[in-house]
Amino acid sequence: MKTLGDLVALLDEDLFGRRVLVRADLNVPLDGSRITDDGRIRASVPTLARLRDTGTRVVLVAHLGRPKGAPDPAFSLAPVAERLGELLGVQVPLADLGDEARFTVDALPEGGVALLENIRFDPRETSKNDDERASLARELAALVGPEGVFVSDGFGVVHRKQASVYDVAQDLPSYAGDLVLAEVEVLRTLTESPKRPYAVVLGGSKVSDKLAVIEALLPKVDALLVGGGMCYTFLAAHGYGVGDSLLERDQIGTCRKLLESGKIVLPSDVVVADEFSAEANTRTVAVDAIPDGWKGLDIGPESVTSFGEVLEGAATVFWNGPVGVFELAPFADGTRGVAQAIVEATAAGAFSVVGGGDSAAAVRALGLPEDGFSHISTGGGASLEYLEGKTLPGLAVLEQ
Ligand code: ADP
Ligand code: MG
Repeated sequence: MKTLGDLVALLDEDLFGRRVLVRADLNVPLDGSRITDDGRIRASVPTLARLRDTGTRVVLVAHLGRPKGAPDPAFSLAPVAERLGELLGVQVPLADLGDEARFTVDALPEGGVALLENIRFDPRETSKNDDERASLARELAALVGPEGVFVSDGFGVVHRKQASVYDVAQDLPSYAGDLVLAEVEVLRTLTESPKRPYAVVLGGSKVSDKLAVIEALLPKVDALLVGGGMCYTFLAAHGYGVGDSLLERDQIGTCRKLLESGKIVLPSDVVVADEFSAEANTRTVAVDAIPDGWKGLDIGPESVTSFGEVLEGAATVFWNGPVGVFELAPFADGTRGVAQAIVEATAAGAFSVVGGGDSAAAVRALGLPEDGFSHISTGGGASLEYLEGKTLPGLAVLEQ
């Protein structure tokens, strides 16, 4: 894989026209037009700053949310352009694909950065039709001209075979950005040479999303701690009633088989609520005493302690998925406790990785120090697919 370092060396020798197309992952959570967590924007800055230092004109491509293949103001990247401008200390114009983009790019000064409007406003971006994606890719490549190059730095999208991630890398000389490189290096460490004991914490809402990664990780880990909405399908597989908690009945059989590994640790107590709301009535109960009509929304204090004991002894920790509905204050203690235990393990020398958009957001929302973890990944789906051993199209294309 050619790297940004290789490219910068070439730019220093004037070997390229100094126009670079960068795919970044700027898919941040928004509340209206307010960015509630700018972690992904900040993570994109080092690669952009490095390119700007060489005098390069940067054309930045990104997406936001899931618009339906047509312009939709609710998914505009305008707030992102503004925040990025603040972080870079330079105005970042936002341009629609087409004439406006061509005009904006031509007007960029040396070291200037232009952001293209949400690339998923164009249905070709995510099209399953190779020709459609290729036509969008050619349009993107044309913006940086015949001497242009592509830097792939949107780690959160490298598992997607999409025009601005995959196809464009076939049209332009392509390099991995610093963020993609750093992420890949961390994941490689986790897959190839984790120090033992290796403990994994998995949470989040849907067990079906994470079964593949559980299956791939089980042979490699020493303990797999399961919390979040997905633990209730495991608890059901164990024979417990789970009330109105999240339950994927069709996965109970698979969960039962996975439990036979003897490595899966389930919570012993949970916080249940009579409704999904911050104003709900709540109780902490043992997992064999979840009342009918109540739903489990967090792991309980006894579970935080037992999960903490496993984490305390670990040399490698991977955490994906909040263990409770951390967005609602009454159900945030479990996630805070687990995160705190990982921070303590890290301080004691463990190598810790947080993967997953909501998990990373939880770290920041709950006021934990970001530097308390060895690495906070910007890509949930991408890091899980890597750990599953899948080929990620956006990385494979950089190896060609
Ligand atoms: P990540 O983005 O880190 O991979 P996921 O997207 O898999 O994480 O899951 C995050 C979501 O899971 C959060 O919005 C959280 O509220 C939810 N969640 C956690 N525990 C529960 C639970 N017990 N019931 C319902 N949802 C839950
Ligand atoms: Mg998520």
